[in-house]
Formats: sequence, structure tokens, C-alpha cells
Amino acid sequence: MSNLFLDILLQAKSEKKAVASINILNYNTAKAVIEAASRANRNVILQPSTGTVKRYGVKPMFRMLDGLRQDAKTKVAIHLDHCMDEEIAKACVDAGWDAVMMDFSSLPMEENIRKTKQMVEYAHTRGVAVEGEVGVISGVEDEISHENAHPATYEDTMDFIENTGVDAIAPSIGTAHGVYKGVPVLNYELVERLGKENTPLVIHGGTGLSVDAFHKLAQLGAAKINISTALKKVYLSETKRLLEDPKINPIKLDEGVEKAAGKLIERHIRVFAGETLEL
Ligand SMILES: [Zn+2]
Repeated sequence: MSNLFLDILLQAKSEKKAVASINILNYNTAKAVIEAASRANRNVILQPSTGTVKRYGVKPMFRMLDGLRQDAKTKVAIHLDHCMDEEIAKACVDAGWDAVMMDFSSLPMEENIRKTKQMVEYAHTRGVAVEGEVGVISGVEDEISHENAHPATYEDTMDFIENTGVDAIAPSIGTAHGVYKGVPVLNYELVERLGKENTPLVIHGGTGLSVDAFHKLAQLGAAKINISTALKKVYLSETKRLLEDPKINPIKLDEGVEKAAGKLIERHIRVFAGETLEL
């Protein structure tokens, strides 16, 4: 199967440089991410949450992102993040999205496998890739909330890959969605073992990890690292800051937020590719 999302992940994996996958929120943030990737000369993935996609509609969201990526200097894949709703995922597959992530991680393993496999079969006949989740990654991601993390094991993860046929796998390795209270303890041993396997490895909950942690994850074979919370935070803080200026107008506000978002994302893209910068 020829697929842009999978091509980008396999290239990142072979280079030992992870690709940034960003939960864009709207036109401004999508444009900021694409331009940041072009400046850094790195491929990138746009992965709106299911909630964002519901707000825009599957087709309008795709048309907007597909239009924006026409001007990119690098490859840009369009991917649906954390979806439990099969109808929305199928609608994305039908509308031309490059990939969808199915999150049935809160269900018993057998159910997770069965439901993910169904989507893999639907998506693959249409040339679309699927990411799955094993174990439970804790925290709140948009509408999906998992209170208790459940770590993945090597055996469960390999079983899941074999039985579902997923193109990318997100095992729970100790990261979480949202803001970390302390320094998270990551299961690098699992990342190393899975990094040696063929299926590209995805790290969720990237916001708040250290530069060293990102470098280590990419070196061990993590192909895709997700960033959501950092973008939301800069979006809100920059909006608040700019609104304090009595002369601000809507266009200047949008431009200002876009610029701040672009700088933040460019730093993450470069760090994931091995550069040492302050995040
Ligand atoms: Zn996630």
C-alpha cells in the first residue's frame, strides 16, 4: 500500500529523526505548522482531534488542510487523532485523509483488536493508514479521557500489531496527555525493543518532555511524536497577551498567534530531528 502518512513515518524511522505530529486547531495553526516544517525542511503531520473535526466537518476540514499543504516545501500528511467513533473515521477515510488513529484502548484487549482490525480492513482497501493504541495513555485529550494509565508490554504490542495489521502503533510508555506534574518515567527499554521492529512507533503526550528525552526517543526508533498541549497553551497565552493592546485588530491578532505558534512548533520539529534548542 502506497500511503503518504506511512512513507513519512518510515523515512523518519530510518533517519532516526522523529516527525512532529501536531494537533492543529484551525486555519491559523495549520498554516503555522506547515510553514514551520518548510522552514526546518522537515516533513510534518497535521492531526486534528476528533472534536476539532466534528466542529469543522470531515470534508471542510480536509479541503482546508489539503489546500494549505499545496504550498508546503515538504511532505504534509493529514491524520485524524484519537477516534472512538467508527462513523467519523470511515468518513475521513472516504474523504481522502491519509490516516486515522483508532483509540479503543479503554476496551479489553480482544475488543481493541477486533474493532481496530475492522477499521484497518476498511481503510486499507481505500489506501488509508491506521494507527492503534495498546495499553492506556492517561490524561485528557479533547473529548477522550483516560484516568488510569495502563502500561503496554512488548508481547501485547506485538500481538496487537500482528492481529490488527495497523500501520503505526502507540503503546503506553509512561507519557500522558496534558501537563506533567513531575518528570515522567518513560519505558525506554520498551521503546528500544519496539523501535527495532518494522511497525513505526508513535509517542503520545509529547508536551513537557525534555530535549534529551526527545533525542533519546528518536534515537531508539520513535518515528512520530505528538504535540497538542503546548500549542493550545501558546495559542491562549498569546491571544491573551495581544488582547491587552488596545490597538489590536482581528487580523493582527490572528497573525500574532500564528507567529507564536509557528515558532513553538518549529523548535519542536527541529528538536525531534536531533537539533539542540530550548523548547
Ligand atoms: Zn494522544
